[in-house]
Amino acid sequence: MTMNHNTDLHDLGVARLAALLRGKQVSAVEAAQHFLARARSHQGLGAYVAINDDVTLAQARAQDAALAAGTAAPLAGVPIAHKDIFVTRDFPTTAASRMLAGYRSPFDATVVARLAEAGCVTLGKLNCDEFAMGGTNENSAVAPVGFDVPQPVRNPWDGARVPGGSSGGSAVAVAARLAPAATGTDTGGSIRQPASFCGVTGIKPTYGRASRYGMIAFASSLDQAGPMARSAEDCALLLSAMCGPDPDRDSTSLDRPAEDFTTRLSDSLEGLRIGIPAEFFGDGLAGDVRAAVDAALKEYEKLGARLVPIALPRTELSVPVYYILAPAEASSNLSRFDGVRYGHRAAQYTDLLDMYKKTRAQGFGDEVKRRIMIGTYVLSEGYYDAYYLQAQKIRRMIADDFQAAFQQCDLIAGPVAPTTAWQLGSQTDPVSNYLADIYTLPASLAGLPGMSVPAGFGAGGLPVGLQLIGNYFAEARLLNAAHRLQQATDFHIRTPQGI
Ligand code: GLN
Repeated sequence: MTMNHNTDLHDLGVARLAALLRGKQVSAVEAAQHFLARARSHQGLGAYVAINDDVTLAQARAQDAALAAGTAAPLAGVPIAHKDIFVTRDFPTTAASRMLAGYRSPFDATVVARLAEAGCVTLGKLNCDEFAMGGTNENSAVAPVGFDVPQPVRNPWDGARVPGGSSGGSAVAVAARLAPAATGTDTGGSIRQPASFCGVTGIKPTYGRASRYGMIAFASSLDQAGPMARSAEDCALLLSAMCGPDPDRDSTSLDRPAEDFTTRLSDSLEGLRIGIPAEFFGDGLAGDVRAAVDAALKEYEKLGARLVPIALPRTELSVPVYYILAPAEASSNLSRFDGVRYGHRAAQYTDLLDMYKKTRAQGFGDEVKRRIMIGTYVLSEGYYDAYYLQAQKIRRMIADDFQAAFQQCDLIAGPVAPTTAWQLGSQTDPVSNYLADIYTLPASLAGLPGMSVPAGFGAGGLPVGLQLIGNYFAEARLLNAAHRLQQATDFHIRTPQGI
């Protein structure tokens, strides 16, 4: 097979690219150069915040050597880009914050290291909301590659719209074919929602399956890493490399051996019971999103699945519960950014307290400050019982509701987000922004695996994602259901115009 490198390489996706690399029809260096060139020619999208040809090509040469020697790992030479929330030794890490300007990690995050062991070549770092707080990627405080000042990340389906967040750069890199795949993190929906807004596939595994070591912490009891790629098959390949216990470095990583998530992709869906929560289809759901989700559900019925009405009665409470617990944990996690240990320090100050105050006032953006204030408030004496403790109790009930639902069904399906991607600059009210997370937060609070699968297009040709939620450790089943849908539809391989 001869490839037209200029047009074809970036359309292949992980599985096919890996096969070509193994067959030596393309070299790791060629693949890396191709994607680096695309990252530059599409830098107006604002997806990348760091690239470094020397580092990437050195990694690619090492993979070519392994391929030549017959010692290559399964994903040898496959380029990948990482959300800038994962620390990396060879690239700067900012978490999209001024606070970490100039920071260099002395080590790689476990997820980054595992993907490198699997043969992946790092293309660079991707834009995100500051400390992963947000749903539009408009909270980034760093300038993307090619710019001197921060820029909004643009949705390749409509440059006037947000890509979603917080893993917005990751979703854009995959949607615009600037990387075959990317890592993301999901605390309350940050893999699923941008995947939905940009028409790519993304999965957040069960909490604890992927190590959090080297993932800059937002809300530790919720944060989880996962892959974003074009297809469920590609996500399965990447997730197999990313997961697995990391007991010495992440005490919440689960003692569950790594799994090959590709083996059950093609299983039949005959008799699969898909739970449809009424609460995910209420008044706030836009008509075009509903239509695409309904069509995907019909497709599942054709594939032999049965739709079962279920109830997740505390869905609405997931918003206040999450926006108490996540800021509470964030306020504690972010206390380490004190001007002494990492990154930014105010240039002028009078004494130690003044140095802390000025450093944090200068280093953090508005949304991060808002969350630190909410978190500090709900943890303070007198309010802890009224807010934090109550929220913890309801979190447990939300998890119990899912267990009751999984008595009646094998998977749960619904929309990822109430609407398609918003206009840039249109989400000015933080509370209405928070409310838009309503469908992703329940699975996050329960620690369940969830994914977004391209399910069609709404008004203005904007992508719509279908959310699939599984019980604990049901990643293989989620990927199987997503793969079968993708064999029956072509939404995941459509390319935005001009890309
Ligand atoms: N949009 C949610 C928030 O702002 C989720 C973020 C995330 O998952 N990192 O907190």
